[in-house]
Amino acid sequence: MFFKIPTLVYFEDDCIKNHQKELAGFGETCLIVTGKTGSRINGSLEDLTKVLEDINISYYIFDEVEENPSLQTVDKAYLQYKDKNISFVIGLGGGSPMDAGKAVAVMLHHNLDDVYKLYEKDVDNKSLPFIAIPTTCGTGSEVTGAAVITNDRIKSKLSISYRIYPEIALVDSKYLYSLPRQVLINSAVDALAHLIESYISSKATEFSNMIALEGLRVWGLNKENLLNPEKLTRKDYDNLMLASVYGGMAIAHCGTSLPHGLSYTLTYNQGIPHGNAVGYFTYGYLKYADQEDVKTVLDLIGFESLKQLRNYLTEICKFETLDKAILDLAVENLKDDKRKLSYCPYPVDEELLRKVVYAYSNDE
Ligand code: NAP
Ligand code: ZN
Repeated sequence: MFFKIPTLVYFEDDCIKNHQKELAGFGETCLIVTGKTGSRINGSLEDLTKVLEDINISYYIFDEVEENPSLQTVDKAYLQYKDKNISFVIGLGGGSPMDAGKAVAVMLHHNLDDVYKLYEKDVDNKSLPFIAIPTTCGTGSEVTGAAVITNDRIKSKLSISYRIYPEIALVDSKYLYSLPRQVLINSAVDALAHLIESYISSKATEFSNMIALEGLRVWGLNKENLLNPEKLTRKDYDNLMLASVYGGMAIAHCGTSLPHGLSYTLTYNQGIPHGNAVGYFTYGYLKYADQEDVKTVLDLIGFESLKQLRNYLTEICKFETLDKAILDLAVENLKDDKRKLSYCPYPVDEELLRKVVYAYSNDE
């Protein structure tokens, strides 16, 4: 048994400012990778650039990262900044800018002339130093090595082969205040899915369970608030962020399982946001799992039955009605993914996978 989280995590108010000296140690010029508006609205970009100016680090801002970032966007950032002597990269935003930032840090370190080389086998896991600053409360990318990028060649999303753990994660939950209601909910459901998929996982250990179970307990504290996010207090935002970091730590060890593997088809083909797509399959994943484990999960997050969790997710996620064609495609795309299927702790063949996929729509 082992457990390793290489990222140094700071979780506090004014986190960027408090740890500016540590940023200075990474070099003279940094590239900030972020999205178009989120990091401006929530004030994190302003906080970051002010600190960089104070400690005399010059910076460039690449702010073109879209949701579910594409290899083309990663390549664009690389080509734009490859000759600028960048010494480190900061991913600022939700999972999309953080993941894109990791991939750009790899490209810059290796001078990759072909973005598809991010998916080569037997890579060295090296990149420019990477710092992560999350502004959503779902992906946990600030503590994972994964960088999930949309890859048109395989018509899906896939983590690059390089495992890039941020050197430092600067986590400040005040950046969540500006999240639109449904983005906040989708993001929180993603964190829940990470916690569930790592507890109900063939890779789970005592160490990862310690994190996943505590994460579930903390997640449960906001169960009612997610029905009325306008009532969230500062402490509630802290707990949403904490549950997300716990989820990231847990999947950094266990990986994700069927709901994540299935979700990529919905996101790639229908544009369904990541957390929403993952949440759609969570009920089915739990329905066929060991019911003692499911009870542990439900007790911690405060539900009496799986049906109650299903109804709750329906209410907060507002799932779209999905066509048979897209659900069948999700099965088709995952059924031969031996690695993803092996993370599921119960035996899963194509027939069971289909049952998991259709559980939500069949059990109304
Ligand atoms: P996201 O795609 O990063 O952001 C969603 C939306 O929220 C964007 O429009 C973004 O605006 C906006 N936004 C972000 N923070 C905001 C804030 N504080 N205030 C207002 N608006 C804000 O969403 P996400 O759910 O965090 O990330 C999803 C991605 O992460 C997916 O690609 C998924 O596959 C990946 N993921 C990665 C891991 C991992 O371990 N690496 C784990 C799970 C999921 P802008 O576009 O302007 O930024
Ligand atoms: Zn996820």
